[in-house]
Amino acid sequence: MDREIPGRIRRILEGLGGPEKIIDRVSRTLADDPPASLDDPGTIRPGLDPALDEKLRAAREGREWLNRLESRERETTRIPTLKIGYTSVFGYYFEVTKPHLSKVPPAWHRKQTLVNTERFTNEELKNLESSILGAEEQARRMEREIFADLIGFLKQSTAAIRAIAGSLAELDCLAAFAETAESRALTRPEVDSSDAIHISEGRHPVVECALPSGAFVPNDAVLDDASGKIIILTGPNMSGKSTYLRQTALITLMAQVGSYVPASRARIGLVDRIFTRIGSGDRLAQGQSTFMVEMRETARILEGATARSLVILDEVGRGTSTYDGISIAWAVIEHLARVSRPKVLFATHYFELTGLAASLPGVRNCSVEAREWKDSVVFLHRVVPGPADRSYGIHVAQIAGLPPAVISRAKKILEKLEKEHQSLLQSKKEPNQQMLDLHD
Ligand code: ATP
Repeated sequence: MDREIPGRIRRILEGLGGPEKIIDRVSRTLADDPPASLDDPGTIRPGLDPALDEKLRAAREGREWLNRLESRERETTRIPTLKIGYTSVFGYYFEVTKPHLSKVPPAWHRKQTLVNTERFTNEELKNLESSILGAEEQARRMEREIFADLIGFLKQSTAAIRAIAGSLAELDCLAAFAETAESRALTRPEVDSSDAIHISEGRHPVVECALPSGAFVPNDAVLDDASGKIIILTGPNMSGKSTYLRQTALITLMAQVGSYVPASRARIGLVDRIFTRIGSGDRLAQGQSTFMVEMRETARILEGATARSLVILDEVGRGTSTYDGISIAWAVIEHLARVSRPKVLFATHYFELTGLAASLPGVRNCSVEAREWKDSVVFLHRVVPGPADRSYGIHVAQIAGLPPAVISRAKKILEKLEKEHQSLLQSKKEPNQQMLDLHD
């Protein structure tokens, strides 16, 4: 079927044509399957230079002559273990083990003595050595010269080669986009100059593929002035918070680089940068601990984010004591909401932070749903409005294989801590009231 070729592809194809001279010279000069290094023979196509072919043939044949010489001398000397060996320092030698030394012909010259063997040479071996090594060395030199000539020729055409490489790269990228869009059922996003992100039924393009077909739960994401540009995302461990953060960033990035996206619908306002603070890592060799790295990255985000940026913060503040962590996270969100005003997804286990939505305009709570069922927790992976109130960390630790004794002890400690916390709150004031005190 004749299909019209889109203008952009046509331009790329046009950019690929033309340099017949370059193609001709490269394909005439280089072998089909050259070795990785010019030190090994075979870079240059056989037939290009008869003198080179002759040297390579001499080197090859020299090795066959060596094999013949080895068998012949083994017979005449009656040394059954006689071998011809080679080192780059001593060249070729006959190797004779100690018990057979008496059979060495008087015309051989000793080259080297080792613990169990001695090494010799004779006139014939010396002649062979110089012709093999000479041929190999000359072949190597000739190959280098021809290759250098080719490079010299190509240097005059760098602009054309760069243009071809650029066209090929663009074609490769667009073909990959097209293939992925088709095979993964991606949709065409709308990209506009608004300051909003509206994603319906978004999916994480990689996690989705790792799960059985249909198992990934799609989620919406709305970040705009009307609904609020900052989402505090809470929810149990393993519920899907990080996945949701990353898929929102990936969909934004994919839309902006010109790809279709994993969502049923997406309207993406252009962002100037996507900032991420995810995972934990250290740079001990550069004198930076895990928490230091976390804070440095956070500092860079606060410094660089603008109202046009998308910021993904995954559990900022967890690398230090609880109160230090909550305080830092609280102040970071306030700064983003009041000063630079980017779109922000902030995942956290600090439920205290959900209190921010009450006082800070543009901030709202969402959580990833989970249900308790019998003695277990079912992760629904669905992002819903409102805060979560539990992390089910001990449950996840149990699934991860912590010993039963440790799990039951942890449950007891948790129960005690929660009771103490509750009575402390009751002795002072209502919980929400306590959180609201943080607002300035
Ligand atoms: P934690 O708080 O322990 O870091 P989390 O809430 O950030 O956990 P993720 O790391 O995002 O959770 O997800 C945990 C696992 O849950 C993923 O590896 C994936 O297998 C599964 N998962 C996440 N999101 C979804 C989804 N939308 N649909 C189906 N499975 C999901």
